[in-house]
Amino acid sequence: MAQKAYLQTYGCQMNEHDSLKMKGVLETDGYAFTDTPDDASLIIVNTCSVRHNPENKVYSLLGRLRKLKEANPDVVIGVGGCVAQQEGESILRREKAVVLVFGPDNFFRLPEMLARVREGERVLMTQWQKRPGDHVQNFVPEEWIESGHVDGCKAYIAITKGCDNFCTFCVVPYTRGREVSRDLDNILREARYLINEGAKEIWLLGQNVNSYRAGDVGFYELLDAVSQLDGLARVRFTSPHPNDWNDRLSDLMAERDTICNQLHIPFQAGSDRLLQVMNRQHTIDEYLRKIEYMRGINPAIELSTDLIVGFPTETEAEFAETLRVLEAAQFTQIFPFKYSPRPLTKASDMNDDVPREVKEDRLARAIALQAEITDKRMARLVGTEQSVLIDAAHARRRGIMNGRTDGFRPVSVEGDFEIGDIVPVSVTGYSNHWLEAKPLAVTASV
Ligand code: SF4
Repeated sequence: MAQKAYLQTYGCQMNEHDSLKMKGVLETDGYAFTDTPDDASLIIVNTCSVRHNPENKVYSLLGRLRKLKEANPDVVIGVGGCVAQQEGESILRREKAVVLVFGPDNFFRLPEMLARVREGERVLMTQWQKRPGDHVQNFVPEEWIESGHVDGCKAYIAITKGCDNFCTFCVVPYTRGREVSRDLDNILREARYLINEGAKEIWLLGQNVNSYRAGDVGFYELLDAVSQLDGLARVRFTSPHPNDWNDRLSDLMAERDTICNQLHIPFQAGSDRLLQVMNRQHTIDEYLRKIEYMRGINPAIELSTDLIVGFPTETEAEFAETLRVLEAAQFTQIFPFKYSPRPLTKASDMNDDVPREVKEDRLARAIALQAEITDKRMARLVGTEQSVLIDAAHARRRGIMNGRTDGFRPVSVEGDFEIGDIVPVSVTGYSNHWLEAKPLAVTASV
């Protein structure tokens, strides 16, 4: 009987991508998967260290898993991902139940690491793969290109890994290394495989996705090629950096039906001085001008963003600039965070001088303002026709299926549809971020 593995994932889509790849690797090593750690002989925690909270969650989960190990000494517990890269050996010292620690550059070597664990070794694998001088590297090994998993009707493809931007608050360049891009053909091969496996929607992933470059091929050419693949209904990508965004990309998004009308484009702070301290390398006027152009040619586009409140030295007037950007940009959704220093980063050497209660107050004000804006943006969708990609059955309501609009709004649709169906709907209402809709016509499957 196959051994059972349990995989717990924290963090961003890139981590979800890595976990899906790990799943493929472990399946070929003879593992089946379970939804609970209780009956697993292998437990892998894929970690995130971008914010303080997910890191805390990892340690509290490891504390709980320790008890499982006490009850069943044969269970193998491993920690992968960004916290593993950042903390390395100290995880092995701190958590005796953990026998395997590996960074994001090494998960394809899981069978080799597990063989060493079976020999009784506690394995640490956090070394970097060598980065070539031209920054082009097909970092998904040949034998694993056709191993990716389709999650429902959605699949992820990592087009770059790492980041060279060194925003002063961000740990990614230290946990995922310097940026490399995969060849266009290498990516298209994976995309065709995933479409064949049932993917209707592909997400192109990169820490700074639009800085992709492999020889003469930039992000524009890549997006142009992927969005024309036979059988693919939708392509999304995340996360672009405003500095690498240009009007040509906005034009392509507006022209091409398969490129979704959704863009998550972080602005982080509304003050030019703070953007400079953060090493973001653009001004707020440049950011807003790019958005204005995009909205001008593509009014249906839904925008979202990340922002940090209480970055060291942030004044009340500078925070007011952040609120001004929220008003000006009219995002549909925001992901706001209180600043917390991350190890290794330049900002962690700065005095974290904005008091906690001020950070909390600013966070609450940003959320309150955005709630009003989101409400208006959701209200304007009521009565519109949308195309919904069905991705799951509703957890509690029989006869209702869930999906996403082109603009990435979650929506519940009445009807008996299959996952992967594209359903034209009329939006009948909303609650918070969630739309309600009725189907307009017979299902059209791609
Ligand atoms: S662009 Fe900045 S925030 Fe984004 S991953 Fe790179 S360093 Fe981090």
